Amino acid sequence: MTHPYENELAVGLEAVRTASKICQAVQSGISPESLEKKDKSPVTIADFASQAVVCRGIRAAFSDPIIGEEGSAELRADDGAEFLKRVVAEVNGIGIDGSGDDICDWIDEGSAKEYSDRFWTLDPIDGTKGFLRGEQYAVALALIVNGKVEVGLVACPNLKDVGGSDGTVCVAVRGHGAWTVPLSGGDSTPSKVTSTTDSSAARFCESVESGHSSHGHSAQIAQILGMTADSVRLDSQAKYAVVGRGEADIYLRLPTRPNYREKIWDHAGGVLFCEEAGATVTDVTGKPLEFTHGFELAVNRGVVVTNGPLHDAVIAAIKEVGIS
Ligand code: AMP
Ligand code: MG
Repeated sequence: MTHPYENELAVGLEAVRTASKICQAVQSGISPESLEKKDKSPVTIADFASQAVVCRGIRAAFSDPIIGEEGSAELRADDGAEFLKRVVAEVNGIGIDGSGDDICDWIDEGSAKEYSDRFWTLDPIDGTKGFLRGEQYAVALALIVNGKVEVGLVACPNLKDVGGSDGTVCVAVRGHGAWTVPLSGGDSTPSKVTSTTDSSAARFCESVESGHSSHGHSAQIAQILGMTADSVRLDSQAKYAVVGRGEADIYLRLPTRPNYREKIWDHAGGVLFCEEAGATVTDVTGKPLEFTHGFELAVNRGVVVTNGPLHDAVIAAIKEVGIS
């Protein structure tokens, strides 16, 4: 396939694959004791290490700003030295040489906050709670040009690639389709949303965390639409993967707090993957998502993804429930 973003795609794919290796290594080392103690340090270490290697990879090839979720201040602080050592060990452990200072510098390549004509956005570990539970998480990267997501890459190490045993990477290039590739390499498979038109037959997915998306409201919407299947609850942008691959019809992200604004790194890659697979994506009021306001979707509320034919009915049901 030829498109204008061959190089961006290749560099981005390599970067999310490398970061995923670190995440897998750290996740496999989480002990039942640290889970018991609700120790968050494994995910924090993997988060910093993931951002470091992705930013390093992108900035070796491009000079674009990167709006990433993390910054190195915590690691550079006096009491961050021990922690930084563990981040360095993970990065070095997959064969990337670099000192603590190098790694902090790489992390800070991702500290842009403002909108620009061409930038990347990165969530080094989306779904940190899922990561700690040993469940779904994603390394999510997107390139935004003139306010449009042009390239989306969502690596989901714990979501099986179509028919395979490996994890999957969801890939999309605007105007050139959506597909998945096995995390460790192999053939790609085109992705396409469902063609369900009867809302009562639809399946929807939503966050595991009721603090991130209202489960009470989604249950009311399901009732209005006559949906009887249980919701599919997944952490991270794995929800976009499931809808884009046609394994569920709808993804609902319904606001839980009046002042929360969705972060662009939680959505950009997944949104393009679903749109290129044929989905319709808006906020809960039916408005398109705007990636032109810095690190937040400042003028949007929540997110609604459907296979297309179901969209109007879902937005009408949201209105009936009175979500805004
Ligand atoms: P998920 O795995 O889909 O539940 O989403 C994880 C993401 O939710 C995190 O990366 C946070 O940025 C984001 N998040 C945190 N608080 C909220 C909130 N109140 N509403 C929506 N998303 C949130
Ligand atoms: Mg996130």
